[in-house]
Amino acid sequence: MVLGLLLARAGVEVTVLEKHKDFFRDFRGDTVHPPTLMLLDELGLGDRFAELPSKRLEKMRMVFGGVSIVAADFSRVPGPHKYIEMVPQWDFLNLLAEAAAVEPTFTLRMGAEVTGLCEGGGVRYRDSEGVERDLAATLVVGCDGRDSLVRAKAGLVPDEYDVPMDVWWVRVPKFEETGEVAEVFGCFANGLAGMTMDRGDYYQTSYLIRKGQDEALRAEGIEKFRERIGGLFGWGERELAEIRDWDDVKLLKVRMSKLPHWYSERVLCIGDAAHAMSPAGGMGVNVAIQDAVAAARILAAPLLSGTLTARHLNRVQRRRNFAVTLIQLQQLGEHKMLIEPALDGRLNERTIPLPLRISDRFPMLTAVAAFFGGIGPLREKTPAFARRGTMEG
Ligand SMILES: Cc1cc2nc3c(=O)[nH]c(=O)nc-3n(C[C@H](O)[C@H](O)[C@H](O)COP(=O)(O)OP(=O)(O)OC[C@H]3O[C@@H](n4cnc5c(N)ncnc54)[C@H](O)[C@@H]3O)c2cc1C
Repeated sequence: MVLGLLLARAGVEVTVLEKHKDFFRDFRGDTVHPPTLMLLDELGLGDRFAELPSKRLEKMRMVFGGVSIVAADFSRVPGPHKYIEMVPQWDFLNLLAEAAAVEPTFTLRMGAEVTGLCEGGGVRYRDSEGVERDLAATLVVGCDGRDSLVRAKAGLVPDEYDVPMDVWWVRVPKFEETGEVAEVFGCFANGLAGMTMDRGDYYQTSYLIRKGQDEALRAEGIEKFRERIGGLFGWGERELAEIRDWDDVKLLKVRMSKLPHWYSERVLCIGDAAHAMSPAGGMGVNVAIQDAVAAARILAAPLLSGTLTARHLNRVQRRRNFAVTLIQLQQLGEHKMLIEPALDGRLNERTIPLPLRISDRFPMLTAVAAFFGGIGPLREKTPAFARRGTMEG
């Protein structure tokens, strides 16, 4: 959506195909990071974004047994937005769709599932009525997530990284108001690990399980899980009331991968399609959006002049590869330092990783984690053709 909006503002003919009929899906990455907030300001969408329901995350806290540590303090990052906004992703996507809809060269087709690539360039898709159609195009950008079909059809094969966990998501009602500021905290104790995100009237809660253990753990029964998650977060019957059976527990399979080549003839992959991100650190949405900004900046002129070549696609990869590699290394580090020991039962208040103990002693250092977790290594410049004053109506 970000790439579509930016290219349309440059005057490029863009069609975005989304397989679902709406953007309304629970348990997506709802974190909007400072670079995205700055992008929205520059696109003239900051005021409208500020009207969306949101919770502001200023600190990320981790609890090891009985010890609580501030792992990242976003109030210390440079720039006007010293926080992460937690906004329902469907509201954010609808806002982008509305902004793009006013551009005469932009088309969004919902309920349109890409099923293949066309030989002469473009895609084959099934529309919302179930009719198979072809859409010719100079360039197909695969932004279809970690199980990307566009990537597979283009013959692009990612390098996969080992990840120790999958994630169960549950909704837990919230009974105490914490005001405008959201609380996010990771909890690690007794071989269990999870994280809650304060979403206003409920906690979006992730519970980590060992990779591939979903079936075996479900076989132990829902009561066992209720006992474990209740013990981890200190929740009783009232909080656990909405975890009635396994239908209330959603599995999200974690993948981490990166394409050695992000493009082939007439196809470019960005976002998770090019590099599936781990949920560790919650950076995937931010990285995908930065990919989109870089791609728009590099590709708009050659698309408009009809001079696009593989060299331009290669420039997008070269521009983004370094930042993505650094963030994925950081995520692999978090898997080793926190998640593996937590799932092995080796992480407790006596074995808190050294970097966290040091930053707990010297709070200035939480700025470093906040910088890497909040801004990331490379913020992409918003292209001049996409900038606008505050958008009204
Ligand atoms: C458990 C878990 C928790 C996470 N939590 C966070 C978090 O809190 N914060 C964060 O920043 N990141 C988080 N991430 C990572 C984040 O979700 C991704 O990195 C990010 O969504 C990537 O964005 P994307 O646009 O590339 O792909 P996606 O967000 O996956 O979007 C792909 C889109 O393509 C559509 N699509 C797929 N196939 C087709 C098709 N054939 N035809 C048409 N449309 C199609 C999909 O419906 C979808 O709308 C998490 C990941 C996991 C696994």
